[in-house]
Amino acid sequence: MAEMMDMNVQYLSGVGPRRAALLKSELGIETVGDLLHLYPFRYIDRSSVQKIAEIIPDQAYIQIRATVRSARLLGKKGEPVTTDNVKFNLVNRLSVIVSDETGEMEVVFFKGIKWMYGRLIPGSEFIFFGKPTVFGNRINMVHPEVDAPDNAGTGILTGVYNSTEKLKTGGITGKVMNKLIGAALDMVLPTLKDTLPEYVIQEKGLVPLPYALRQIHFPTDRYALSKATYRLKFEELFLLQLSLLKQKFIRSRSSVGIPMPKVGEAFNICYNALPYELTGAQKRVIKEIREDLRSGRQMNRLLQGDVGSGKTMVAVLSALIAVGNGYQACIMAPTEVLSQQHFANVSKYLAPTGVKVALLTGSTGAAARREIHAGLEDGSIGILIGTHALIEDTVRFRRLGLAVIDEQHRFGVDQRARLWSKGADGTAPHILVMTATPIPRTLAMTLYGDLDVSVIDEMPPGRKPVVTRQFGENKRYALYRFMKDQIALGRQVFVVYPLIFESEKVDYQNLQKGYEDIVEQFPLPDYKVAIVHGQQSNEEKNFNMNAFAAGRANILVSTTVIEVGVDVPNASVMVIESAERFGLSQLHQLRGRVGRGSEASYCILMKGVKVSKESQKRLDLMCETEDGFVLAEEDMKMRGPGDMEGTQQSGLPITLNIASLAHDGQILSDARLYADHILDRDPDLSAPVNAPLAAELRKDKYLVRDYSKIS
Ligand code: ADP
Ligand code: MG
Repeated sequence: MAEMMDMNVQYLSGVGPRRAALLKSELGIETVGDLLHLYPFRYIDRSSVQKIAEIIPDQAYIQIRATVRSARLLGKKGEPVTTDNVKFNLVNRLSVIVSDETGEMEVVFFKGIKWMYGRLIPGSEFIFFGKPTVFGNRINMVHPEVDAPDNAGTGILTGVYNSTEKLKTGGITGKVMNKLIGAALDMVLPTLKDTLPEYVIQEKGLVPLPYALRQIHFPTDRYALSKATYRLKFEELFLLQLSLLKQKFIRSRSSVGIPMPKVGEAFNICYNALPYELTGAQKRVIKEIREDLRSGRQMNRLLQGDVGSGKTMVAVLSALIAVGNGYQACIMAPTEVLSQQHFANVSKYLAPTGVKVALLTGSTGAAARREIHAGLEDGSIGILIGTHALIEDTVRFRRLGLAVIDEQHRFGVDQRARLWSKGADGTAPHILVMTATPIPRTLAMTLYGDLDVSVIDEMPPGRKPVVTRQFGENKRYALYRFMKDQIALGRQVFVVYPLIFESEKVDYQNLQKGYEDIVEQFPLPDYKVAIVHGQQSNEEKNFNMNAFAAGRANILVSTTVIEVGVDVPNASVMVIESAERFGLSQLHQLRGRVGRGSEASYCILMKGVKVSKESQKRLDLMCETEDGFVLAEEDMKMRGPGDMEGTQQSGLPITLNIASLAHDGQILSDARLYADHILDRDPDLSAPVNAPLAAELRKDKYLVRDYSKIS
């Protein structure tokens, strides 16, 4: 019954106000339900008892059954403290020697000494449960749990819960936790109603909730545990998908969009003048967008496509549909450099169409700005390209119909929301969000559960694979020689330094030192080296960037400002310094800067002496695959979805308690399909059989913020 679940834990037997306060401050547990939803993060198999002689150090938790041989109280320096009239404040530790028929070992306590000393009387037998460690040459166990032999763990598998030092010193040990949860189960289960309708349980072959809760905490065996785990994961993902899809349903029924029934002349002229044929994936995505635009509903589409997959062209053609229907379009990019590049490209494509394009960034002068403002208001400018300068209040469109946002993760949610209000006649413009940070499917389904997602999963023809290698410092000379060979062939080279915190002095020193080193190795007049970083003025940055883009510099030394979008087809070598400090998706983005021309390209990952296991795995993965989606999946597995680059600011709609987006993709897809199927038959969940579902979705955690405005 709901009321039991909602009861304050304080009233649970064995808790009381003090422990209740601890549970709240340490674990955020307030109600009995919260306690029952704290699932074990692992289980200990208490069915097996090890022999002392067979213990392997640094094993996971083990259990031995042994007799106490001696118990000694030792001082700070290991000196014995006399046992008659013991002054416990002089005692540093309790050292107990225990033995079974195969051997003996030491068990040590630093806390609760007095009590343990009284309990561990030589000659008596106990079960010791803990983690074996090596001290000196011998194996010992520090602070094991101690049980009387007939009073060991209840089930075969015992749940282990997240805990903190404060909880333990406050008396809420693992064992106490097990007891409290047992008491909570006894109280709640008899009257607990299932959160899922009976027919769902039947159709999906799930176990009932009371059984699942009992088994997740106190499994009788591994099979029962797996059934319980599956049921709880399914429920979690299913309810989440149900809530997201329901919102999507409601939005698509209610969101009026600007109708754009035709493709228009400008689109056709541009299309027919393209210097290349669109890839199948580009064509498919453009078709999806066309359908959206003429539907009469507002488009909210996320376009994912790996670096170099040709998203710009999709943006341009979409913008031209808006223009062809008498509306304006804007394309917002995160950096000045990228905006300029877009502007240059788009102008080229649009030349035969006669559509007027303008560029608006932070460095656009006052006079030019006035002219642009006027052109937007009188409608003579068809497409505006720019940085976030284009969402300022002073920028007013005559008839904005479509907004494209490139590299969406660089913009904050509120910046994106401001575009929303700039639509023609107060109607929100169609929104196309583009990202080159591939988001694993499972994450996209959840993160953008109510957006439509298009994927460009095909590269333009002729792209050669980028040969990726990792070099240690000992190969630096070989690296320079290789760079010289490439430059001799007429190619250009990127050298990127990590700048994790833009203000960090050390990083700038490294960059500066690296630059000086390169200038020394690649001297004028044979070589020209440009440098770009965040502390330069915009003019300086643009000047250097342009020098490289135009081929006047052979090498561009930079921080990650070049990460996004910049296209220099003649650059065929990407050197990443201290590559171990970059995240996987950043490395992938950087590598995407090369391999754009027809020449063989290279990505050299320079690594330091000390590389953590995790970092090494990232570098290895980079050398193994160029598939952004594979890398994104791996990244998610390694870091957990909460930390995925590009997703922090949008965050997950709800915190998952038991399911994992990285590992439970199959359950997620299944749950989503099933949720879709249910909503198909009962979009409002108003049928009596679905009452439990409707009730669940009314809970706070599903009252997610308005995702329709996520873009
Ligand atoms: P991204 O998806 O990273 O934004 P771009 O739109 O910058 O990729 O495209 C990368 C490069 O590929 C550009 O030089 C562009 O002109 C080229 N390109 C795009 N589509 C095609 C195509 N269908 N065939 C050949 N080249 C293409
Ligand atoms: Mg791009």
